[in-house]
Amino acid sequence: MKPDKFTLRGLIIIFMLGMILITTGLMMYLFLNFDIRISEHTTLIINPYLWLALFMVIIIVFYMILVLLINKYIFDPILAMRRAAEHIKSGNLNYPIQYAADNEIGDFCIEFDKMRVRLRDTILEQHEIEKRRKRLIASITHDLRTPLTSIKGYVEAIQDGIVKDQETYEKYLSTIAEKADYLNHLIDDLSVYTKQELGEFSLNLERVNSGKILLSYFDHKVDEFKYSNIHLILYKPFISTFINVDPYRFNQILENLISNAKKYAHMKIEVRTKVVNYHLQIAIKDDGDGIPQDVLASIFDPFFMVNKVKDQKEKGGSGLGLAIVKQLTERHDGKITVESNVGEGTTFILDFPLDI
Ligand code: ADP
Repeated sequence: MKPDKFTLRGLIIIFMLGMILITTGLMMYLFLNFDIRISEHTTLIINPYLWLALFMVIIIVFYMILVLLINKYIFDPILAMRRAAEHIKSGNLNYPIQYAADNEIGDFCIEFDKMRVRLRDTILEQHEIEKRRKRLIASITHDLRTPLTSIKGYVEAIQDGIVKDQETYEKYLSTIAEKADYLNHLIDDLSVYTKQELGEFSLNLERVNSGKILLSYFDHKVDEFKYSNIHLILYKPFISTFINVDPYRFNQILENLISNAKKYAHMKIEVRTKVVNYHLQIAIKDDGDGIPQDVLASIFDPFFMVNKVKDQKEKGGSGLGLAIVKQLTERHDGKITVESNVGEGTTFILDFPLDI
């Protein structure tokens, strides 16, 4: 059996009582040894016993106040922290420490509570990551299975000799090739996305002139747009300042946004640059159908598509492009935002801190 243990509070009370007894004993000893006599003429005010009694009362009151203060400023917060620690131990991270005092123990309680909040936020964040991971796996499984099932269907139709004429045969083969291309594209995007998510790629950051890097990217693009019925309108001169980016990744970000704009625009795409609060902003605006407000917040989620059937079938999308763009932009300490109005078009705004 465990021996009885004194609590700290009990020890302090015993210590205080001991101090009172020792002080009383000492006073009695002094009184007896100094042979204090009281004559009939001794007035009350100079009566030493009165002073002894008064002194004893002061000592007792002093010790009692001391016990109360120790209780209030040491044991109450320790108890509050113990209660909070028990809640944390049982998994309840929403229980705050109910103790506030402007002293060292109060500060300690505040720090302890900050630790609880931090722990709670980290756990919530981990739950969110776990949920996202599960959603991602579900989407990957679905998006890989759909084209594979149809490839299998077409191959079986050919194997079973259902296809009789050359025209249908070629149509089936080209659909199989199309689906295989789509799978390839999806796997490429997935590989980039997961590498970035796991932090398995590094950036080769360089201090580059924004005007120059934008011009070199769009010079090539202008050629590509010559054969398209979409007009690429560049508001030149592009702002010429310095940003710290990986040129390859920077072009990848632009490429994703421009190819999306090209897929969804009706007639034109406009590109503008400006500097706001020491940040370079690049706006890519199209005049497409726009994105409904209620799904705008999900647009950067992996595998999100406004109209899954149409976006996947007609536009060959994987729903990973914008998730990749967001990851890449944030790795550059940048930010991407979107503004859209149904029937008017969509504008993506990239924002990179200047390196000046
Ligand atoms: P993907 O890689 O398939 O192009 P994204 O992640 O780039 O996918 O885009 C996700 C979805 O966002 C698209 O399927 C489309 O529905 C919508 N979207 C993206 N860009 C635009 C745009 N410029 N205009 C309208 N819708 C867009």
